[in-house]
Amino acid sequence: MHAKVLPFSKETIDAIAETYPTPFYLYDEKALRTNVRALQDAFSWNPGFKEYFAVKATPNPFILKILHQAGLGVDCSSLAELIIAEKVGLNGENIMFTSNNTPAHEFQVARNLGAIINLDDLEHLAFLKKHASLPELICFRYNPGALKAGNLIIGHPEEAKFGLTRTQLFDAYRLARDQGIQRFGLHTMVASNELDTDYFVETAVILFDLVTELTHTLGIQFEFVNLGGGLGIPYRPEDTPLDLQQLSSKIRHYYAQKIATKKRPPLKIFMECGRFITGSCGCLVARVRHIKQTYKLFAGLDACMADLMRPGMYGAYHHISVLDKLNIEPQATYDVTGSLCENNDKFAIDRHLPELAVDDLLMIHDVGAHGHAIGFNYNGKLRPAELLLRENGVVVPIRRAETLADYFATLDFEAVNQFLV
Ligand SMILES: *Cc1c(COP(=O)(O)O)cnc(C)c1O
Repeated sequence: MHAKVLPFSKETIDAIAETYPTPFYLYDEKALRTNVRALQDAFSWNPGFKEYFAVKATPNPFILKILHQAGLGVDCSSLAELIIAEKVGLNGENIMFTSNNTPAHEFQVARNLGAIINLDDLEHLAFLKKHASLPELICFRYNPGALKAGNLIIGHPEEAKFGLTRTQLFDAYRLARDQGIQRFGLHTMVASNELDTDYFVETAVILFDLVTELTHTLGIQFEFVNLGGGLGIPYRPEDTPLDLQQLSSKIRHYYAQKIATKKRPPLKIFMECGRFITGSCGCLVARVRHIKQTYKLFAGLDACMADLMRPGMYGAYHHISVLDKLNIEPQATYDVTGSLCENNDKFAIDRHLPELAVDDLLMIHDVGAHGHAIGFNYNGKLRPAELLLRENGVVVPIRRAETLADYFATLDFEAVNQFLV
């Protein structure tokens, strides 16, 4: 069993909690940069390797600015994500626009930014031409269907709404070629939180073979393959972390065999991980508000599922540390809950923890990706602040907590008073 390392010291959290009310998200700049460097170093053998961070995982401009500075591009899928990218100085081929069911306006904005357009359907080529313009570089998203097994979060590829079938891909690139497009990329995204390197190696091989076949059949050259995101992180103490070196060297082996032997320009490998970059770099800090004993023992926190939906939505495991009781063995079994009027509002079910008391400070681990981002306002819950611990030890608030004024901003109470009188 791997011990779960505390990403921040107890003293750090205690000091921050004196200034900032709980609950809050806290991110670690140093860990962020370490994760980026690990991925870049692992694939440095591939000239042009680039990670396009999936903005949806952690759509905070401060975080994106750090990642941009560290050399990453971004993967956007909506207007808001494009705007955030632009605001932190990203543009051109530093942005990959991987959207689906896309409105015309978003294609226009993406084209104006010079983003790489990754189309989700054959028909979208004509749609793009009609509503924006055709780019010189085009990418299509491949859905390998039964060739790949899915998992709980992402589902089975055949059931998924994303991407083109294999046959459609040949038609799509032919159509693009015949319309004068000269630069090409191929994309797929079939995994989520996968820790098995072979799953990604298999994906890479599928793309390497497909690129070779498309080139052979259509006489077009590919500049890149994008393997998507989905690299997993060890949420549970007993999980074995993904072996990045092993992943890289296996992919390198097939690249040498299937790509490098062909007399073609080098093929760049792109990825668009979210979780692997930011997941382990963030935690949610909350306090115990009430302890309650009925048929089970409950610890009610001042955070709820609206702050972190993954446990309630997927039954996802997030490790919980009790900061004042780090060296105390678990003595009791709790359901750790929030305050929503929904019974799946639980951060953990039947979790063995040291005996808890009101006001205990808890750290919920590994929420840096798909954490704050998937938050919501049900029951009028206000979304929590996000803080960043800089490498120099300074804490920077990178998003303030929501207020009731924010929550009510879209309502006009004066109009309500005039209404029905
Ligand atoms: C969600 C998503 C990602 C990022 O997934 P992670 O599991 O966070 O790596 C990348 N690409 C696309 C198209 C996605 O939808």
